[in-house]
Amino acid sequence: MRVYDLITKKKHGEELSKEEIEYIVNGFVSGEIPDYQMSAFLMAVYFQKMNLRETIDLTMAMVRSGDELDLSPIKGKKADKHSTGGVGDKTSLIVGPMVAALGVPVAKMSGRGLGHTGGTIDKLESIPGFSVSLTDDEFFDNVNRMKLAIIGQTANLAPADKKIYALRDVTATVDNVSLISSSIMSKKIAAGADVIVLDVKVGSGAFMKTIDDAVLLAKTMVDIGNGVGRDTYAVLSDMSQPLGNYVGNTLEVVEAIEALKGNGPKDLMEACITLASYMLIGVGKASNADEARAMLNGTIEDGSAFEKFVEFVGSQGGDISYVLNPEKFEKATLSEDIISTVEGYVHEIITDEIGMTSLILGGGRETKESVIDHAVGIRINKKVGDYVKRGESLATLYANDGEKLKAASERLLASYKLSSEKIEAPKHVLGIITGDETVIY
Ligand code: URA
Repeated sequence: MRVYDLITKKKHGEELSKEEIEYIVNGFVSGEIPDYQMSAFLMAVYFQKMNLRETIDLTMAMVRSGDELDLSPIKGKKADKHSTGGVGDKTSLIVGPMVAALGVPVAKMSGRGLGHTGGTIDKLESIPGFSVSLTDDEFFDNVNRMKLAIIGQTANLAPADKKIYALRDVTATVDNVSLISSSIMSKKIAAGADVIVLDVKVGSGAFMKTIDDAVLLAKTMVDIGNGVGRDTYAVLSDMSQPLGNYVGNTLEVVEAIEALKGNGPKDLMEACITLASYMLIGVGKASNADEARAMLNGTIEDGSAFEKFVEFVGSQGGDISYVLNPEKFEKATLSEDIISTVEGYVHEIITDEIGMTSLILGGGRETKESVIDHAVGIRINKKVGDYVKRGESLATLYANDGEKLKAASERLLASYKLSSEKIEAPKHVLGIITGDETVIY
């Protein structure tokens, strides 16, 4: 087989066999296929797509590119969640402690930022001392002892995804159903959880811009998960504006801390409670969504979710004094309010542009080698449906570099669309997909 021929085949929209897909995945992981050929292949897949059979073969080739984690040393049914990527999405930092506070083991592997979206691992690394690398034994011990551990992708777990993910991030080949489903499901299958809850984002800040594309992505992943014996659920959630009020690594950690203390914005809490509810239902801890919701709200009200977060940060080497006193986090040196020059209701926020604004400020990667600036980001002062007077602040930018701040402020202002017509704030949860049914609200 020659990789050149396989790129050509996909470029012409032909179906690849299981052996051909394995050849490309294994060749890339071993280093025989260089980045430039893999980039061309990914772009061919991006435009010509893969069918379900090819997507499943791609997923399983990625699972087999490394080891599968045997979670049997962890007692009980293990739950995991994963988002398809959004802007301001700090749900894992809130869902993990809430579910763990109820005694359900959460053994979670998370990712870094991808394209315009942020990643849980980059956010956690803004806590001084926090380590996202644990040995298998430390990972098992932490989950057995305190029910929660979140690690980055280890070298031996779906290494194909790790390499492909880093390449997609910088080659504009992220938003494709087959590439997203194989990336997420290869990690989730290799990481071994019994119950997988997928947060499939829809809207301008998501990789899937329409509900139809999001349903296709959700169904593909639910079919892959259930097909290999994992109880898999997908929640379709709105990403037509940033989730919560902050975008940026440290800023989002602080917002998550506030949410765990009961001060979370409504859309963020709705997202977290819904995702966490399906984790509880999946492991059999709750029999329905109302029961799960009451239990989860209880973990915020009695402080146990916040206490769990503190314990979790400490157990992975993080300095808990920052969690107990978020004022300690290093702040960006510059800030600027983005002032509205017109009056009206916010009709639209071009949310991937908000993500790009954060990336330009230094909160994400421009190249594979970029180093993240954790302190920079955005406070969203006006959301969809809010009325804005001329001269009011739409958002506040936090930066450490004047040039970057200038470029970011132009981009941010252009991403707000106002109109004199009144508009309702969007619903946050748009649908649920299980192996048995698809419910769109
Ligand atoms: N999250 C992942 O892990 N992979 C993707 O491709 C998108 C979101």
